[in-house]
Amino acid sequence: MTQTLFTIEELSVGFGNPAQNAPVVKNVSFSLERGKTLALVGESGSGKSVTALSLLKLLPAHQANYPSGRVLYQGEDLLQASESRLRQIRGNRVGMIFQEPMTSLNPLHRIERQITETLRLHRGLKGPQARVRALELLQLVGIDNAEERLNHYPHELSGGQRQRVMIAMALANEPELLIADEPTTALDVTIQQQILELLKELQQKLGMSVLLITHDLNIVRRYADQVCVMYQGEIVEQQGCRELFDAPTHPYTRKLLDAEP
Ligand code: ADP
Ligand code: MG
Repeated sequence: MTQTLFTIEELSVGFGNPAQNAPVVKNVSFSLERGKTLALVGESGSGKSVTALSLLKLLPAHQANYPSGRVLYQGEDLLQASESRLRQIRGNRVGMIFQEPMTSLNPLHRIERQITETLRLHRGLKGPQARVRALELLQLVGIDNAEERLNHYPHELSGGQRQRVMIAMALANEPELLIADEPTTALDVTIQQQILELLKELQQKLGMSVLLITHDLNIVRRYADQVCVMYQGEIVEQQGCRELFDAPTHPYTRKLLDAEP
């Protein structure tokens, strides 16, 4: 029996004055099952990141409008939730990783400080306890010489190692949902593989659900269970991964698949 973690229903999101600007996300609906990976795929500007950020209402309220829709997280509509409730859910249940680790890590702080800060915020861990947990997390994401790495600054790590640190931080709150927005786009192909294999392994070990955002169909093919294809703010096709590659129904999906190297 599969269990639904969250369901997005008829979500529309726009920026600025709704009378002047059309929404950039239009009537988007999908569900993510527990323990599964759903890929949101589509070309740049199609609305993938806005959809992911809207899930937790992370877009600044003065910019983004939510003209319609519901985000049901285990039955609770997050679009109607209070700011304090949203903070609680973001902090306790969700981890996020983005494309470029350098912009997410503070260049002035050692790795230890960045991870322990996250642990303090989300888990109330301090001092030696936080350090021990930080070490465990670095080991979990396969960083060699983890003890030494704690003392390093971000620039002393390779891109792949920085992304592993970001994953460690995203896991600090033991999330049930991991949102990975182009998590390997900035990395070399071999490092990409390693990071994606790591995510898969962690997902199996920890039982997380993953919302994987990418424009790369090869990644989708290897890692996704379900796929939503976005085009100009709309989901034009939604299928099981194998079905999508075997028998795409929408012309845009066929075009994407034909263009695949
Ligand atoms: P993707 O992640 O698929 O590349 P995005 O979700 O980032 O695309 O963007 C979808 C559309 O929304 C784009 O046209 C983008 O320019 C617009 N957009 C994104 N963020 C903002 C913002 N903060 N203010 C105004 N427009 C935005
Ligand atoms: Mg994006």
